[in-house]
Amino acid sequence: MTEPTTQKIEKLTAVKGMNDVLPPESAAVEWLEAKVRALMARYAYRNIRTPIVERTPLFVRGLGEVTDIVEKEMYCFEDRLNGDPLTLRPECTAGVVRAALEHNLLYDGGKRLYYVGPMFRHERPQKGRYRQFDQIGAEALGFAGPEVDAELILMAHALWQEIGLDDVRLELNSLGQAHERLEHRKALIAHLEQHAELLDEDARRRLQSNPLRILDTKNPAMQPLVEAAPRLLDFLGVESLAHFKTLTSILQANGVAYTVNPRLVRGMDYYNLTVFEFTTDRLGSQGTVCAGGRYDYLFEQLGGKPAPAVGWALGVDRVLALAREAGLPDVGPRLDAYAIVTDRQDLPLVLATLQSLRAAGVSVQMHTSTGDAMGSMKSQFKRADASGARFALIFGQEEIMAHQVTVKPLRDAGAAQQLHSLADVATWAATLQSAA
Ligand code: ATP
Ligand code: MG
Repeated sequence: MTEPTTQKIEKLTAVKGMNDVLPPESAAVEWLEAKVRALMARYAYRNIRTPIVERTPLFVRGLGEVTDIVEKEMYCFEDRLNGDPLTLRPECTAGVVRAALEHNLLYDGGKRLYYVGPMFRHERPQKGRYRQFDQIGAEALGFAGPEVDAELILMAHALWQEIGLDDVRLELNSLGQAHERLEHRKALIAHLEQHAELLDEDARRRLQSNPLRILDTKNPAMQPLVEAAPRLLDFLGVESLAHFKTLTSILQANGVAYTVNPRLVRGMDYYNLTVFEFTTDRLGSQGTVCAGGRYDYLFEQLGGKPAPAVGWALGVDRVLALAREAGLPDVGPRLDAYAIVTDRQDLPLVLATLQSLRAAGVSVQMHTSTGDAMGSMKSQFKRADASGARFALIFGQEEIMAHQVTVKPLRDAGAAQQLHSLADVATWAATLQSAA
């Protein structure tokens, strides 16, 4: 026999930057997800679920080698058996496009899709920035017109309204097409080289490989330099400008306010034409709650038949943080009834009754005891009160003998308690549902 160990066992904790979401806070996440599902249904977007792990080259090719995510934020590992390079998805657009290609989803026309799920980025954890975080995203695949960019933006805007966020700003830009960016790039590099002494290490490294990304810098010291940089918008041709104009006129017609931010470039290489961000001042430097744009060349970049596409992703934590500030409605799960039982012997009959109530849509929590006895009436009532239930269902000796249950209102002092026959609790359940 081994001696019981006296050695202290190291406490196991979650990985830094990866959080547990516990009740009651988890109810807010479910509330937001339910809002989003209903919203997506109204805009005819359908749910897609792709794996959390993808092959690493998908992200390297999709997002671009010289991006923050690919350079320093990905969780990469090798498949134990065959050494395949794998990565925990840092975002979902690449996976959605991979799936669309793999299953030839666009064979009969465009598809409107949305996803909900965790993403992983090895960033410095802070408020609003985590290593595992949930995103909700919408992607419209196979549509080239600016009206689809507008539809996506209107959809996000409708979501803010629905959940009571009134100070989310929309910033827009157009990245044009590759040949337009090429001209701008020359001018941009020339500008940045003139002020080479002001460039930080990241910027110096990206000066030739990805100068546009420098405009996205969060380094305050470089802000004056990027603000004075040549504007990509000034390099756009007629078609790109027309795309942008149609989008903005749809937004105007719908009363959606926006500002054009010529320095908005976004963190992935796959964007062209429209890019946008919804931002707020209320979350400090983690102020972007939703971001997206058009990515008409990602299909080709991933080796598929070309197809235009546009989408956005929102950060669930940041949106919820804002919604909490604005004042969440009561999103907690409602509990209709708490079942009080005096004798363990009655449990089979009680549980059968609770089953029929639940089948009729009533939420019921059964009293559970730790010992042999069910516990005193008084202690059970205490629990019933604390549970937040609207009614106590009392399965006492007398009630059981008569095949009845006492229904006692807990939240409405004036309301009288009632007796119902066990065979007929569904009738009571129906009054509850219609009142709800
Ligand atoms: P940021 O500029 O804040 O790093 P990003 O440009 O990297 O954001 P996207 O890749 O566009 O963000 O992701 C879309 C949304 O996902 C962001 O607007 C944000 O709300 C959320 N998000 C991104 N990274 C994180 C993170 N590490 N933790 C929590 N939410 C995040
Ligand atoms: Mg980031």
